[in-house]
Formats: sequence, C-alpha cells, structure tokens
Amino acid sequence: MSNSGLKEKGDRHYQICTNCIMDTTDPNITFDEKGWCDYCRNYHKNVLPNWHPNEQGEKLLMPLINKIKKDGKGKAHDCLIGLSGGVDSSYVTYLAKVKFGLRPMLFHVDAGWNSQEAVNNIEKLVDGLGLDLYTEVIDWTEMKDLQLAFFKAQVPHIDTPQDHAFFAALYNFAAKNKFKYILTGANFSTECVREPLEWHYHASDLVQLKDIHKRFGKLPLKKFPTADIFTYKLYYRYIKGVRVVKPLDYVPYFKETAMKELVDLFGWQKYDYKHYESRFTRFYEGYWLPKKFGYDKHRAHFSSLILTNQLTRQDALNLIAKPAYDEKTIMQDFEYIAKKLDLTIQDLQQLMEGENKSYRDYKSRMPLISLATSILRFFGIQKTIIR
Ligand SMILES: [Zn+2]
Repeated sequence: MSNSGLKEKGDRHYQICTNCIMDTTDPNITFDEKGWCDYCRNYHKNVLPNWHPNEQGEKLLMPLINKIKKDGKGKAHDCLIGLSGGVDSSYVTYLAKVKFGLRPMLFHVDAGWNSQEAVNNIEKLVDGLGLDLYTEVIDWTEMKDLQLAFFKAQVPHIDTPQDHAFFAALYNFAAKNKFKYILTGANFSTECVREPLEWHYHASDLVQLKDIHKRFGKLPLKKFPTADIFTYKLYYRYIKGVRVVKPLDYVPYFKETAMKELVDLFGWQKYDYKHYESRFTRFYEGYWLPKKFGYDKHRAHFSSLILTNQLTRQDALNLIAKPAYDEKTIMQDFEYIAKKLDLTIQDLQQLMEGENKSYRDYKSRMPLISLATSILRFFGIQKTIIR
C-alpha cells in the first residue's frame, strides 16, 4: 500500500531523527545540522523550560486545587474527570481523590469499542475509590453510520467519531451540569511529541465531521454528541466558565510506575501500547494506519517517551521494528470490526484498498484553527508543535 504522506513529497530521501525516532513519514518534518528534528528542538526550547513535574509544580498546582475545593463547597462534586480506563485518566482519578482530596465525579463515554481491560479498570477505580460514575452510552446506530462514513471517506483519521464523542459528551455534560473544572489526563510526559496533522487530524473539527457525514452517511445524527473546537475552547471556557486542569504536568508522572501503582492498589489491568483501551484504536493504530497509510503513531508515542527519559532510543527502534500486531489477532480483530459495522470481511478489505485521502479533501476549519494556533504559540500558550 502506498504512503500518501511520502508520495506528496515525491523524491524526499528517508531520514530519521538522531535523537528521537520521528522520521520522514511525517512529510513536514525538518532536521537541523545535528540531525535533530523540529519536535526535539521544540521540546528543549518550549516545553522543558515551562514544565515542572516536581515539587515546584506541586506548589504551582496547590492554589488551584484549593480553589476547586472552595468553589465546590456545598456541591455533590467539585470537579469532573473523563475516564477512559487508560493509564492517563486512571492516574488523574487516583491523584484527584487520594493525593489532592478532591471530590470528582467520573464521566465515561461508551462509544461501543471498550476493551475488556477498560471496563475492568473503570470498575476497579470506581469501587476502590468509592466514586460516582456517569456513563454516557452513544447511540450505536448513529455511531455506526458515522464510523462507516469515515471509512468511506478514506481519510486516515477514522478514529474521529470515537474521539469526538469522548470530548463532546464530556464538555457538554460539564457545561450543562455547571461543572467549573474538568481534570484531564493530557500531559507532556507521554505526549510531548504530538502526532502530525497528516496522521491525526483534529477530531474536534465539527465542520469536517459534518461534511464527511453528509457525503457518506445515511442517517441523520440526532443523539450523537457534538461540540465544535471553538465551542469548547471559547464559549465553554469563557462564557460558561468551564476550566480544564491538567494535573499530570505538575507531578512526577512516569507511565510504567503509574501503571504499576494502579495495578498494585486497585487490581487495574495493563494493556499494550497507548490508547489500546479501545478495541477500535488497537485495530486502527496497530494495523489500519501503518498498513494503509504507512504512518505508525507509535513513532510519536515512543519519541515522547524518549524525550522524557522513559525509553531509550534503541529500545524504541526495536519496538517500532516489530509489528504491533500478530497475524492471528489481526484476523480476529478484522472480523470483529467488520461484523460490528455490518460489513463482510470483503467489504472491509475493499475499503482498505481504496484510494487514500487526507483531511484536505473535505471541508474543514483548518484556516481558522491554524490562525488560532499561531496566536496561541505567539503568546507561549501552545507549547507542543501542531502541524
Ligand atoms: Zn527528534
């Protein structure tokens, strides 16, 4: 299968960063004379000087934690946490309750693809910490229609329906129920190298979602939760006063030790790779993307871990050389995904062989998002590279 990213740049020679493992499968990557990529340079220039995952960070965070407690007095909960069952959101939940003494309400979106590990982990945390959980179940008929539309659109970001449902449902719930604080598991430690837009377009771009659904969907979306990127970044933030807090950037946060703590304390279950708490994501990141488009998102994930000293470059190179899937699991998951979407294996195979497209082939808010991102970077608010 051809690699649309490389194809566009034609004869560009293959090059891999000498510090992390990002390479020219990101068509817009640049290298300096040392062979370092722009993600590495940006990390040292913009992220590291402003990131304090230590005592200094906790000192910065505590006034905000105290304000959350104060503002929450007399209410049943003082903040909302979107819990996927993955390590980042699970660890935030644990910190919020045990370390900070907050009274969070947990919010989970079931978009139909939960892995058994995710279900177990949510249950174990809810029981172990004695917290309240609200689960929003996405209407499967609509979810399926939207999911199929993204497959038919032949774009790489077919995880958009799931991602959009996660964040839109969370933000809509917060605004509707007057939550002032959302705690998220977003963090520099495992995400300082962002996947380039070529690999993973903004799931929050409602214009793109609607355009793809209009062209390839069959049913109206009546119940599916939607929220545009500007609705939550501007309207919810400044009019409704919903503030997003990222506690993991203020404390020491290492993926392996965090997982071990959760396993020991709650009987939490580890899963392979980042985001494999969703069965769809496992199939999509481990198989569909590398095979159809030639991108491997693990390259960005592993590069983040290299920069934050959680993985050596050599170990990352060894990991990326191995397929993230064995043949037997691929066949099982291929069949599972096809069946769930009411497709035959041949139908799904045909979609896989279709001509690759990009987010540029459909309507989007990209010009406005680029402008907003440049402004945020100019003021130093946006620290990781988005391009
Ligand atoms: Zn690099």
